[in-house]
Amino acid sequence: MSLASQSGARISADIRFLDNCPECHADWHAGRIFGVLRNQSWREQKNNVELQADVEDCYSPPYTFSRLIGITEQGGEDRVSKWRCPDCAHEWPCSR
Ligand SMILES: [Zn+2]
Repeated sequence: MSLASQSGARISADIRFLDNCPECHADWHAGRIFGVLRNQSWREQKNNVELQADVEDCYSPPYTFSRLIGITEQGGEDRVSKWRCPDCAHEWPCSR
């Protein structure tokens, strides 16, 4: 997939897997999934190996949360139709 940025640059990577916004360069990292789940009290019964296995079963590499916002159209299909940067509000169409 290739997307055009406001500056006209082509973005060849899937927007969901970028570390930074191609427009404003904001950092989209929101922490490692394992660390966030480890701090949830209802997961205390899981040891680190079991919790890591859960993370790998339920999420995709690099196993980090992102600040990128998924937008669904009201009245449309129940899926993300476009992505929005939380800092500059630039939007990209969903490729699916
Ligand atoms: Zn941005």
